[in-house]
Amino acid sequence: MTEPVLTGRGLSQHFPLEHGTWDRLRRRPRPVLRAVDGVDLVVNRGETVGLVGESGCGKSTLGRALVGLYEPTAGQVLFGTEVLAAKRTREQRRHVQMVFQDPYSSLNPRMTVGQTLRELLRLHRIVPRDRVDTRCRELVELVGLPDHALHSYPRQFSGGQRQRIGIARALALEPQVLVADEPVSALDVSVQANVLNLLADLKRDLGLSMLFVAHNMAVVRQACDRVAVMYLGRVVETGPTEQVFTHPQHPYTRLLLASVPRMRPGHEPEATVKGEPGSPVDLPTGCRFATRCPLAFDRCLVDDPALQPVGGPGHEAACHLVGAVPGGAAALPLATPLVGLPIQGSRRA
Ligand code: SF4
Repeated sequence: MTEPVLTGRGLSQHFPLEHGTWDRLRRRPRPVLRAVDGVDLVVNRGETVGLVGESGCGKSTLGRALVGLYEPTAGQVLFGTEVLAAKRTREQRRHVQMVFQDPYSSLNPRMTVGQTLRELLRLHRIVPRDRVDTRCRELVELVGLPDHALHSYPRQFSGGQRQRIGIARALALEPQVLVADEPVSALDVSVQANVLNLLADLKRDLGLSMLFVAHNMAVVRQACDRVAVMYLGRVVETGPTEQVFTHPQHPYTRLLLASVPRMRPGHEPEATVKGEPGSPVDLPTGCRFATRCPLAFDRCLVDDPALQPVGGPGHEAACHLVGAVPGGAAALPLATPLVGLPIQGSRRA
């Protein structure tokens, strides 16, 4: 049975921007960057959910909002059934911890690994004082580092070792959920597999649940049970990983998968996502993907599609073609322009 452990409900994360002197004098409202805009996302106990999309789609911001690094503009974050306050208590912060993309910038360069871990354990009173040093040794061993790592500074480690330290620091608070923000994208390819294996082992051994933020589709397919695809601050497709990878429904997901480089010589990507994503400061009125979608038709320009079920259990996509044509968007070649399809049920029609 699935048991939600971390839930984002209608979560929005907006950032007001500064505007120029002229706009200020004319008392124009400040522009707002809508990084995350009304997202529902559930991580069930024991599963890894992948959050994918291009740079700037809002996936890292969503991860940070779930961890509590940002106060959400709207919506709620739940740990189990408990609604977490915008300003979390120390106890609430422990439940969900983050592994950052760049562990070096997230570690204090003036503190040894041992000092960093000891400070956390004491501050959060995770273990009795006389157990702190033992627990520090256990933590570095858990992430595959030797005891003497406790006496070294972050600059003395390689990228992969620093990421292990970042993971040890997150585990120090004994969380139930890890939010891993591009945990291997800054690492050499040869080291990526080791860190991915470590995360999988820790998840299994410690019974962790995980939100795995990444742009590398191959890594997500290997590491995740379910996947959510984000575009311009919204989830546009979600479902079990194999279902989404073998039967993608949303045109954006199909293009993302088709653009994955092939390892074999002579096998070029089948397609790419052309053009630039729209601006999160000036969002389009209809479907956010309409400016780049090869299947866009007139309704897409005025009517914002909601997520709806598409076939397999738990598989949903936000596209007007779901139910509009037999087989939905997945049945159409991506080169087919649909300019002639009529506007159906448009909010503005
Ligand atoms: Fe493309 Fe229209 Fe579907 Fe959006 S709603 S993904 S523009 S076909």
